[in-house]
Amino acid sequence: MSCNDNASTYNPFSQMINSEALKILFKQAVDYLISCRTCTVPCRLTYPGIYEACTNCSQQNPAIGKKHTNVAQSGSRVPVYAANQCSVCHGTNLISVDSTEILYMIPLWDYKQWFNTGLSSSIINARNPDGMVQTFSKIEVLPQIKRAKSIRIDTNIEQYTKHDFEIYGEPEPIGFGESSYITTLWKKL
Ligand SMILES: [Zn+2]
Repeated sequence: MSCNDNASTYNPFSQMINSEALKILFKQAVDYLISCRTCTVPCRLTYPGIYEACTNCSQQNPAIGKKHTNVAQSGSRVPVYAANQCSVCHGTNLISVDSTEILYMIPLWDYKQWFNTGLSSSIINARNPDGMVQTFSKIEVLPQIKRAKSIRIDTNIEQYTKHDFEIYGEPEPIGFGESSYITTLWKKL
């Protein structure tokens, strides 16, 4: 069936098909669904740690050539043992501190509702999505998603159950006429 069928199969959208207006309308509708948080849940991304000075022992940093004294700072909660080995940083004076960020995304728990993008389709066809979830989000968050070492989906219910996942494969662009969104597969930790 072409887009220019006669009145008996008149489709009110036929004048909009392939038009820039429909593309914009679609994007506005989906953007609204995401931004108004009708369909989204808060997801906490955890990023790999950056190294900071250990707060349990001396701030002197061997990285700049000073000798590590392993002297406990006042108020430290973890004892510095006699073997001159800080139990927190193991004498390195450095600790890895993870950072987190909350992003709102649409989780699709049921694989039958997944967007049938390339990577997802192979799993859908194999009917083997055990422990996997697909998220839908704006493409602008792609850098954060790729940097995250884990995600907790729906922090609203984390006091009841913790849905922790790690990324599976690469996020895939999706959209209507332009790639404004991404789907991402996550595997349960
Ligand atoms: Zn330390």
